[in-house]
Amino acid sequence: MKYKPTWDLRTIPDSEFNSEAARRRSSRGGGRPKVMKTCDKCGAVMSAREMRAHKCTTKAQSAELDSRVAQYQQNPEDVIPWERLKEALSNKKQKGGQ
Ligand SMILES: [Zn+2]
Repeated sequence: MKYKPTWDLRTIPDSEFNSEAARRRSSRGGGRPKVMKTCDKCGAVMSAREMRAHKCTTKAQSAELDSRVAQYQQNPEDVIPWERLKEALSNKKQKGGQ
């Protein structure tokens, strides 16, 4: 028995109903429909799976990161080389600093 739009929905046998439901699900990509959620921090809308992978920064954190990148791009030479920083930190640690 193949579904016809003229069927009375209340009398469709479960087997026909389920196979038609499965056909419609698979025609739009299959599976359960995505439940979209809104990130509390940034307001981005995404599926639960995307939300689990979402590494969010607050607006303040994003602004701080953007300003640091801008500072670096304006003056890329104004940096502390890793070796010098490492040495400074190790000296501080030996002197009992924080
Ligand atoms: Zn977010």
